[in-house]
Amino acid sequence: MKIFDAISKYGHEQVVFCHEQATGLRAVIAIHNTICGPALGGCRMWPFESEEEAIADAMRLSRGMTYKNAAAGLNLGGGKAVIIGDPNKDKSEALFRAFGRFVQSLGGRYITAEDVGTSVEDMEYIKMETDYVAGLPMQFGGSGDPSPFTALGTYEGIRASVKYHLKKDSLKGIRVAIQGVGHVGYYLCEMLHEAGAELIVTDIFEDKVEKVVNEFGAKAVQGDEIYAVDAEVFAPCALGAIVNDDTIGRMKFKIIAGGANNQLLDEEIHGKKLKEKNILYAPDYLINAGGVTNVFFEVINEYSKDRVTKKVKNIYNILMEVYQIAEKENITTAEAAARLAEKRLNLIRNVHQNYLR
Ligand code: NAD
Repeated sequence: MKIFDAISKYGHEQVVFCHEQATGLRAVIAIHNTICGPALGGCRMWPFESEEEAIADAMRLSRGMTYKNAAAGLNLGGGKAVIIGDPNKDKSEALFRAFGRFVQSLGGRYITAEDVGTSVEDMEYIKMETDYVAGLPMQFGGSGDPSPFTALGTYEGIRASVKYHLKKDSLKGIRVAIQGVGHVGYYLCEMLHEAGAELIVTDIFEDKVEKVVNEFGAKAVQGDEIYAVDAEVFAPCALGAIVNDDTIGRMKFKIIAGGANNQLLDEEIHGKKLKEKNILYAPDYLINAGGVTNVFFEVINEYSKDRVTKKVKNIYNILMEVYQIAEKENITTAEAAARLAEKRLNLIRNVHQNYLR
C-alpha cells in the first residue's frame, strides 16, 4: 500500500501510527477532516489479517465520519482509530492507557469513543490519560446510552420518508417491518406503536421478539421472511449489507429507513437498484445520526436532553432536503447525502479561506 497515495486520494489530513513496546500497542488513528470541528470517531479493536487492512479500515471509516457529521449539521470532523488485536484476549488496562496517551498527544484534533470490539470499560481506561474521549456513561460525566436518540432520529426519518414518498402526514396504519429489536429497534418499535403504525418484527433472540409482541402488538416473522413481508417501510436495525441483489429481488417495500450501519452491500450498485425499483432509501449514516448528535453535545460540554432532542428531530428536515436534491438531480439518495455534506464542507472551507486572506 502506498500510504501517501491513499492519503491524497481520500483527502486525509493526518494518519498517525501508534506503537508502544511495553504494551504491544499497535494502532492507527486516521484524521480525515477537521473543517467542521475536531475529528470524532470510535476506536475499533480487531484482529486484522494485515496492517494494510487496518490502515484501510481506519481511512475508510474516518472519511465516512466526515460525511456523516457534516451532513448531520454537527460541528465535528471525521476520524477513526483502530487497534490491531483480538478484543477477546489482547485487552489490558495498560494497552488502553497507552492508546489514551496517543489521543492526548493530538491535543483534541481527534476525539475517540466506543466502537466494534471496544467497551465502556475500555473507554474508562482511556479517559485516565486523555480529555478527548466521548460517549461515556452519565456517572462519568458522559452522555450515556445513545440508542434512544438513534431511535428518535430513525423515527423522524421514517416520518419524513412516508411524507415524501407516500404523501402521508401520519404513520397511522403504516406497516413497518423491523429487523432487529435490540437497543435501537426496541425504542423505535415503541415510538412507531405510539404513532399508530403496525409492526412486523424479527430477531434472532426469541425473548426480544416476545417483548415487542406483548408490549406493542407486533407480528413476529422468522429470519429472512422479513424481506418479503407486505409492508410500506423496511427498517433494518441489526446487520449491515442486508440490501443486496438477493434481498432487493424479494422486496415489496416502498421505503427503506432504519438505524443499522452500512445497509447497502454496495452503495453505488444497490443504491441505483433501489432507485430503479422506486424504493426510497434513507441514507443510513444520516438517519442514524441521532447517536452521534447525543455525543456531540457531550463533546461541547453543553449537554441537555432538550437540545439533543431538538437537533435529532431535525433529521426529518435534512432527509427532506436530501430527497429533494436526489429528485431534482436525478441521482440516488446516497449521492444526494454526499452532495449535501460536501456543500457544507465547501462552505466552511471558503469561510476559513476568506478569513485567512
Ligand atoms: P443491538 O445489538 O442492541 O441490537 C441488534 C439486534 O439485532 C439484536 O437484538 C440482535 O439479536 C439482532 N440481530 C442480529 N442479527 C440478526 C438477524 N440476522 N436477524 C434479525 N435480528 C438480528 O444493537 P443496536 O445498538 O440496537 O444497533 C443496531 C444497529 O444500529 C447496528 O447496525 C448499529 O451499528 C447501528 N447503530 C446503532 C447506534 C446506537 O446508538 N446504538 C447508533 C448508530 C448506528
